[in-house]
Amino acid sequence: MAANNNCEYINDKSIPEDLLCPICTDPLEEPLSANQCGHTFCRQCITGTFQTMSQCPTCRYTLTLEDFQPVTLRPFLNQLNQILVKCKSCPETNIQRGNFKDHAIKCMKTIVSCPAADIKCSWTGQREKMQDHVSICPLVQIQPVITELNATVKQQSEQIHFLYTVLEKISTNYKKTCKEYYKAKGAAYCDICKNRFIFDEHEHRLHYCPETDFCSTCVKKYFS
Ligand SMILES: [Zn+2]
Ligand SMILES: [Zn+2]
Ligand SMILES: [Zn+2]
Ligand SMILES: [Zn+2]
Ligand SMILES: [Zn+2]
Ligand SMILES: [Zn+2]
Repeated sequence: MAANNNCEYINDKSIPEDLLCPICTDPLEEPLSANQCGHTFCRQCITGTFQTMSQCPTCRYTLTLEDFQPVTLRPFLNQLNQILVKCKSCPETNIQRGNFKDHAIKCMKTIVSCPAADIKCSWTGQREKMQDHVSICPLVQIQPVITELNATVKQQSEQIHFLYTVLEKISTNYKKTCKEYYKAKGAAYCDICKNRFIFDEHEHRLHYCPETDFCSTCVKKYFS
């Protein structure tokens, strides 16, 4: 596998064979090695192989994936880091593989997305073009507002959820408000829709909260 989607090896013929992975034949990445036989493979390659096999792909020694441990031999890792690559996005070449990450985060030709991608700006382009896009992107402009609104909406839905829980608790605890109560009060109308309350067969108002004169239809409308 390539060292990174954005770079490729140069002079791959001159890379010493002991730095190559026998599975993918590219220079080793995150090399893992088995103590029992000493064979070394890329982490991704050997992990993939052990999905269906339980032998070293090179010598057929019976092993488990746990037998493979990261190679910590400094000189070996340094040799891997010093392998030269070139950037696929810009003309820069002769970059040590170990330093390519540093190049990629500042490479002006690398494809990046808009900082407002999280609120659905679909723009992608070379890093050097991003400033131009950002200066005209309406989503970048409204991003702070959206973030704030999202926080408000989240807080309010939590409040509504809490109120709904309280209402439910009250409605189950309180089944006593009856037709007589409303007769005494002189009216039985919902405070919101002004419709007359309906009473069930037990002469109980179909309500949720006796303290607030809302009928169950309204409660369902606002709190479901
Ligand atoms: Zn490999
Ligand atoms: Zn082996
Ligand atoms: Zn580059
Ligand atoms: Zn944008
Ligand atoms: Zn109502
Ligand atoms: Zn009642």
